[in-house]
Amino acid sequence: MKVFDKIADVQNEIAQLRKQGKTIGLVPTMGALHEGHLSLVKRCVAENDVCIVDAFVNPTQFNNKTDYDKYPRTVEADAKLLEGAGAAIAWFPTESDIYPEPDTRVFNLGPLAEVMEGPARPGHFNGVAQVLTRLFDIIKPDRAYFGEKDFQQLAIVRELVKNYNIPVQIVGCPIVREADGLALSSRNMRLSADERKHALRISKALFESLKKMDTMSVAEVRKWVCDEINSEPCLEVEYFEISNSLTLQPVENWSDAENIVGCITVYCGEVRLIDNIQYKKA
Ligand code: AMP
Repeated sequence: MKVFDKIADVQNEIAQLRKQGKTIGLVPTMGALHEGHLSLVKRCVAENDVCIVDAFVNPTQFNNKTDYDKYPRTVEADAKLLEGAGAAIAWFPTESDIYPEPDTRVFNLGPLAEVMEGPARPGHFNGVAQVLTRLFDIIKPDRAYFGEKDFQQLAIVRELVKNYNIPVQIVGCPIVREADGLALSSRNMRLSADERKHALRISKALFESLKKMDTMSVAEVRKWVCDEINSEPCLEVEYFEISNSLTLQPVENWSDAENIVGCITVYCGEVRLIDNIQYKKA
């Protein structure tokens, strides 16, 4: 595996690989890698001649300075994990390389960005669009891999490449969970042992809510999930929306859409955790 930080070096390498006719897959991450990220990397390795993983804590997508400052950074461990997962290139860009000048671009991401994380984290998706368009422009990957853990982000990335005619195939990958059900997240590292125990209630409530679809309305399930989680110490639901999986607009009835997703954000102490569940009709 080759490790780079400078854009020029990474582009040089890619130019050589392109000359040899190799296909290139990109896995964009913010580092602090875990098995969730590695599932994307392994899929990327399997489907492309070359897998590039970048790890960059993108400042423009953080609307909260403390969250940015406290975001875990584990470069050496990340490089080892990437090597083990079969990545060909690990790229750890510097901020001044990605943003030689402040990025003032404003992206039109439409109604998908106006719900859930949109109002909860103003500017977040614009920052995601800024960094991804830079990464896509620098690497020009054939495919790019994203996790369904960030369900809204995946939908917005698909919209971004469609609206801005970016020639990359977006591949979505299922959520990877701990054995007990907690969705893997770099932010889990920040949980105390006690918080970690309470955090389990999030995925438990989501899974249990699947069984309530036959007897409860959408509004009732929504309230039930929020009450379950809020009754657990340390946990506070920021939002829980039950929505059409394609438009991300809230549904009123289980019959309103073919595919329905429940997206949740919960504060566990000071750590902001997200998760989601697909509501499948029997
Ligand atoms: P992050 O480093 O948190 O920005 O995540 C980088 C990519 O990994 C994003 O596409 C995430 O959706 C994906 N990812 C993070 N956690 C998981 C997980 N538990 N399962 C699947 N994908 C994940």
